[in-house]
Amino acid sequence: MLGYFAPINLICPMLKFRVLLFLAILSINCGWAQDYRWQQRVEYQMDVALDVKTHIITGSQKLTYFNNSKDTLSKVYYHLYFNAFQPGSMMDVRSRNIADPDARVIDRISKLKDDEIGYQHIQSLKQDGNDVTFHVNGTVLEVRLAKPILPNTKTVFDMKFQAQVPVQIRRSGRNSKEGIAYSMTQWYPKMAEYDFQGWHSYQYVAREFHGVWGDFDVKIKLDSSYTIGGTGVLVNPDFVGHGYKTKPQAKPAKNQKPVTYPAKSTGLTWHFTAKNVIDFAWAADPDYTHDIAQVPNGPELHFFYQKNDKTADNWKKMEEMAVKHFEFMNKTFGVYPYSTYSIVQGGDGGMEYPMCTLILGEGSFGSLVGTMAHEVSHSWYQGVLATNESLYPWIDEGFTDFASQESSALLFNKPVADSHAGSYASYFSLVKSGLQEPISQHGDHYNTNRAYGVAAYSMGTVFLNQLKYIMGEENFYRGMRQYYNSWKFRHPEPIDFIRVMEKVSNLDLKWYLRYWVNTTKKIDYSVKNVISKDGGTFVTLDRIGEFPMPLDVVVTYIDGSKELYYIPLNEMLGNKQVEDKTITRLDLEAWPWVYPSYTMKVNRKAEEIASIEIDPSQRLADVDRKNNKVDIITGVMVYHDTTK
Ligand SMILES: [Zn+2]
Repeated sequence: MLGYFAPINLICPMLKFRVLLFLAILSINCGWAQDYRWQQRVEYQMDVALDVKTHIITGSQKLTYFNNSKDTLSKVYYHLYFNAFQPGSMMDVRSRNIADPDARVIDRISKLKDDEIGYQHIQSLKQDGNDVTFHVNGTVLEVRLAKPILPNTKTVFDMKFQAQVPVQIRRSGRNSKEGIAYSMTQWYPKMAEYDFQGWHSYQYVAREFHGVWGDFDVKIKLDSSYTIGGTGVLVNPDFVGHGYKTKPQAKPAKNQKPVTYPAKSTGLTWHFTAKNVIDFAWAADPDYTHDIAQVPNGPELHFFYQKNDKTADNWKKMEEMAVKHFEFMNKTFGVYPYSTYSIVQGGDGGMEYPMCTLILGEGSFGSLVGTMAHEVSHSWYQGVLATNESLYPWIDEGFTDFASQESSALLFNKPVADSHAGSYASYFSLVKSGLQEPISQHGDHYNTNRAYGVAAYSMGTVFLNQLKYIMGEENFYRGMRQYYNSWKFRHPEPIDFIRVMEKVSNLDLKWYLRYWVNTTKKIDYSVKNVISKDGGTFVTLDRIGEFPMPLDVVVTYIDGSKELYYIPLNEMLGNKQVEDKTITRLDLEAWPWVYPSYTMKVNRKAEEIASIEIDPSQRLADVDRKNNKVDIITGVMVYHDTTK
C-alpha cells in the first residue's frame, strides 16, 4: 500500500504535510488490525417494587446506551426472558419436541395458568424523551428508534415496565422446589449485545446468555421481612440491616445531596450498584440466614440459605471451602476483580451470574461443594471474560468445569491428574452413541440436550486438558493466566484464546482449534508393529483416526528404566516444553499430518523392551485405548488394553 506514494522526503514541505495528514486519516478510517474489537456499553438505573402478594414487579429503567461501533443503529433489541414461561412459547414447544427434554421443564410450561405464567409488559418507552415504536416477538423486544444512534454517540432510553414473576420452571421464578420465595434472574428488560458479528438477540429457548458490559444502579423495594442477596454491592447496609455489615459513614462531599430511601412501613428499599458487569441477578426470601466470610486478599463472600436440618452443617462447612476455592482460582487462573461475591440458595440447580450464583442448597456436602466450585469458577469465564455463551458454550462451561474439577480434587485431597477422567468418559460415551455434533454449534440448536451437555461441559474440559498435553503443563497455566489478564472485560473469541496460547508456547495451535471445534473427527493412534533390526528396534505407529496429534511414546525397558520419544505434529511448527525432567526425552522428527503411519527407531534391542505406550498420561482423547500399548513378552508383541 505505502509503495504507491512518492517517498515523503522528495516532496515539498506543504505537500509532505498533506500526505502525512492523508495517511493519518487513512489510518483512522480504514480499519487496521483489531479495529473491529470495539464494544458497546450500558448504564442501567432501575427503580422497581415487587409486590409479594401478587408477584408483580413494577418499575422504571433508565438505560444510557453507548454506541461505540462504527455502525449507525436504527433499531435496538431487548431480551424479555420471562415471556418464555407462557404456554406455546418457543421454550415450551422446544421442550415438548426435543428427544431428551430437561426434566425440570418437560411440558410444565404448557400447563401454566394465567396467574402462574411469566411476562414482561413494556408500558412505555422513550428515546431521549421521544416515543419509539416497538414490537414484542416472543422473548425479544424490537425497537425502531426515533432517531438513529450514530457511531460513537450515546442515547438514553426511559422505560416503564411491569412483570409477573412466573412459578419457577427453569432458573427464574417464585417458590422454588426448596421453598425459596424469589429467584430473580433474567428478570428485567435487558439490552441485547451488538458486536462485530451484529445483534445477538436470540430467542430464549433453553440456555446460555450474553450481555453488554456496563454499570448497574438498582433500587428494589419489597416487604421488609425479606432478605436480598445477589449481584453488586449494597449501598445502604445501615438502612437495610439483614446481616449486611455496616460501613463507617463517609462525609458527603460538598453539594452532594444525601440519598434518602422511602419509609420502611411501605416496604424496604435495597440499593445495589455493580460496575463493569454483563447482568444483574438477585434472590429474596423471608427465611434466609446471611453469613459473611472473607477471602484473604480477595472478595467478601456472602452466603444466603434457609437454615434447616439439610443445610445448617453443610453450608457452614462449605463456607471454608468457598474461601479456599477463591484462593485457588486467584492463584491459578487470575485474580477475581470485584469486592464481593454472593452464594445464594435459589434457582433449580446452579446458575452463574456476575458477582453471584443461585444454587440448590439441600444436597449432600459433596454436591453442594461441587456446585459451588463450578458456579464460582464461572466468575472467571462467564463473569469476567464473558465470551459469548450462546455461540461458544464449550468455552464458558468447559473452561469452568476444567477449573472447578482441579480445585475440587484439591479440596477433597484427590489427584488433580485424574480430575478430568469423567469428562473424557462422557465424551467417549457420546462418540459411541452416534449423537455427537460439532461443538461450533449454537448452544440452543443441538439436536439433543445430551449432545449439548457433553459438547459444552465435557468436550470443553477435554479441549483444555489436551491443550495442556500439547503445550506442556507450565506454559499451559501461564497461558491461562495471560489469557484472563489480557482479555478480561472484553468478550474474547476462541481465536483470541488460541493466539494467547500460541504466543506463550511458541507453537502453532490453530489446527487443534479447527479440528476440535469444527469437526467430529476422532483421535485414534495405535502401535502397529515392533521389528528388531540392525541392533535397534523399529516401532511403527498408525494414525487410525482422522484427527492428527503430537505423540508422547514411552518405552519401558526390562531393567525398569524409561525413555520418552516425543513426536511433534508438523502443523505445530515446534516442540512442546519438557514436562517431566525425571525421564529422558528424545525429540524425533515431526509427523506430517497426511502420513497415516510413522516409524521411529529405539536405540536398544527389542529383547530389552518391556512395553511401548502412546500417551501414558491419557490426556489424549484417543477413542480406542485397546491398541495404544504393547507389552513385549518373549519377543512377541501383545496388546495391552489401557481403557479405564
Ligand atoms: Zn456452568
